[in-house]
Amino acid sequence: MSATYEPSSLDLALEYLRVHGLPYRWAEQDVKVWEAVCPACRAMEWGLTIREPVRNGPISLQCSSGCTVDEIRQALEADPIEPRVEQALALAEQARQVAAESLAALESHLAKGKRQ
Ligand SMILES: [Zn+2]
Repeated sequence: MSATYEPSSLDLALEYLRVHGLPYRWAEQDVKVWEAVCPACRAMEWGLTIREPVRNGPISLQCSSGCTVDEIRQALEADPIEPRVEQALALAEQARQVAAESLAALESHLAKGKRQ
């Protein structure tokens, strides 16, 4: 999947990556290519390839995991607060599970106590 990403420039794409706290790097083998963590799937690899064939010209985005350009663009331009909220919710869910497990262990313990 590859398509021209207009009218945004490479600088803007890299700015968005910074906003999202996603790492990116210049691909050593080609000065026109940058690699980054894909904002859509956030696979823990340099899955996103950003190509800038002409300096300050339109760029193309390609994800090795198969995200479409639209998905990448949406994720890139999304409000960066959202991932933090998602993370907070995930942590809250973890805490809830820990509490539920503790309660289950306590109930099991009490149930054993009653039987004795
Ligand atoms: Zn992706």
